[in-house]
Amino acid sequence: MYDAIVVGARCAGASTALLLARRGHRVLVVDRSSIPSDVISTHFLWPHGMSYLNRWGVLDQVKAVTPTYTAIELVNDGIRLTGSVPPELLREYFRDLHGDDSGVVQSYASVRRRVLDQILVEAAAKAGAEVRTGFSVRELIIEDGRVVGVRGRSVDGQTVEERARVVIGADGRNSFVARTLGLPKFDERPRCTFAYWSYFSGFDPGPGQIHRRGRLACAVVPTNFEQNMVLVWGPSDWSREFRADVPGNFQKALDFVSPELGELVRSRGVQEERFYGAAHAIGDAANRMVLRAYARWQETACTDPAAAGAVPRLRHRIEHTQHLRPADVPLLARLGVTASMQPTHCTSDIPLTSRMLAGRDLASYAWRSLLDTGATVAFGSDAPVEDPDPFYGIHAAVTRQQPDGTPPGGVDPHERLDLDAALHGFTAAGAYASYEEHLKGRLRPGMLADFIALPADPYQVEPADLRDLTVALTVVGGVVRWQR
Ligand SMILES: Cc1cc2nc3c(=O)[nH]c(=O)nc-3n(C[C@H](O)[C@H](O)[C@H](O)COP(=O)(O)OP(=O)(O)OC[C@H]3O[C@@H](n4cnc5c(N)ncnc54)[C@H](O)[C@@H]3O)c2cc1C
Repeated sequence: MYDAIVVGARCAGASTALLLARRGHRVLVVDRSSIPSDVISTHFLWPHGMSYLNRWGVLDQVKAVTPTYTAIELVNDGIRLTGSVPPELLREYFRDLHGDDSGVVQSYASVRRRVLDQILVEAAAKAGAEVRTGFSVRELIIEDGRVVGVRGRSVDGQTVEERARVVIGADGRNSFVARTLGLPKFDERPRCTFAYWSYFSGFDPGPGQIHRRGRLACAVVPTNFEQNMVLVWGPSDWSREFRADVPGNFQKALDFVSPELGELVRSRGVQEERFYGAAHAIGDAANRMVLRAYARWQETACTDPAAAGAVPRLRHRIEHTQHLRPADVPLLARLGVTASMQPTHCTSDIPLTSRMLAGRDLASYAWRSLLDTGATVAFGSDAPVEDPDPFYGIHAAVTRQQPDGTPPGGVDPHERLDLDAALHGFTAAGAYASYEEHLKGRLRPGMLADFIALPADPYQVEPADLRDLTVALTVVGGVVRWQR
């Protein structure tokens, strides 16, 4: 029995858990997502937010990895203002709301949510709150008209029930807690703005800048990982048109609102993330169509002749990439497109492909060929279409055989992978595809300690037995989450 269960472990949830735990309450904070991770949100913090972080004692941790500054430049239809929120105004704000103005700071920062939320979650845990990520609340337990607990699915798929004196919904704008209880909404604002943003390295914009011209605005703010968040926003009723060509319109909007910023991003900016696409293509014609679209997009995106032929920073993917025309195999590496594949498709599809594709000149499930051309091949399971057990996938990648060992030698045996390549596909390559190679996919200092322990060495077992490997222990973020 806890004093409080907090549903949602990000800005609102982790900080609530932190404050309650510091007051000596027994707190459980749960989140269905894994943290660190990003959310759909930009992450600009005004001095008010920074002051809260300071009051909670975590600002130094944020500042250690995030550029901060005390003045911001606002350019409104050509009128340039530089300054900060006056300290007296800030103090008044905190006195009015909290009765004291301790810890007020005048700084700004743009801290990635994968950084900020992690710092807050760790602070909550350090304060004594129990943190469970990968825990999805499915039901509120209501007795005598009161919420007395939650029922949900834990990271290992078990249904778990926990009880507390209070349950706090910090589960975001589509709050499950609020919906379940039919809580009234207040201070609702109509949707009025669309925004697109991305991350660029290659230039130093100085402190944050916000520009507005007419109904469009843009901003550039330095953020973590030596990158800058560049953001464009405008009225919702223009979003449909904007969406028709996001990269093109993004640059056009920058050029219109701030020609200097537009020039800086065009000439020096290296786009590190998004806007990326993930298309789903199985058949050879669909794969060719998607590859052509990516190639066309790249031609328009890479206007710098020096960049021609360079590996693009955007990590477009093709989900499945099952059947390719042989001539298209080298295209993925050339375009920097990740083949996101699911090895068990190869073996589950044998009855279908042997009947329908016999005699066709196709590179099907061409893992070895793709790797040989230098493409990134990231593996997954495609659950719930296939069983999520990664050992089934590893077995399929290494043997290309069905569980009963057929066909002998595997289907298209030249496309079989060795165990190293199969494990790489399921770990480091997946992390690369989701821009998380600095956090996941390998065991190295500074990365998340997400790993499993096996009762048998997979390099010592027969390939046919890889399917039967089991897990003895699961560690997520350095914490043992499951043990046989
Ligand atoms: C496009 C956009 C741009 C924005 N830009 C900024 C900005 O620059 N600066 C700023 O300060 N704010 C910005 N915001 C607002 C900011 O994103 C939100 O105010 C903030 O994320 C709210 O934090 P939260 O902790 O309340 O909720 P969230 O960040 O939404 O976290 C809620 C958590 O609850 C978890 N959850 C939900 N349901 C369940 C369940 N049933 N069981 C378990 N867990 C569950 C989710 O997994 C999630 O991790 C922006 C928002 C948007 C949409």
